[in-house]
Amino acid sequence: MSDLPNCPKCGSEYTYNDGNMNICPDCAHEWSADAATDSGDDTKVIKDANGNLLQDGDTVTVIKDLKVKGSSLVVKVGTRVKNIRLVDGDHDIDCKIDGIGAMKLKSEFVKKA
Ligand SMILES: [Zn+2]
Repeated sequence: MSDLPNCPKCGSEYTYNDGNMNICPDCAHEWSADAATDSGDDTKVIKDANGNLLQDGDTVTVIKDLKVKGSSLVVKVGTRVKNIRLVDGDHDIDCKIDGIGAMKLKSEFVKKA
């Protein structure tokens, strides 16, 4: 029901939200409810072509033929890519593809397997 975090001070799970603050009834600790979502650049949201959230280690399937930059190789539609790693940038998936090697993909051209 609630996705409030546990109290960062005492670990109580009975925290409640009051406006912009989260409050712990056990130790009376109060902290900003925004802090968790605003800070932390590493909580980037990368979605596949269907809008599913992708995570490090996911297996995805390529949904269109993708030319490999600087070569004549093509990653064929339907290629399974295991153990992806999410990165920053225009191409936001770092991965290794059998027969091709390490490369980067755009999340919009894959779907979660
Ligand atoms: Zn507490």
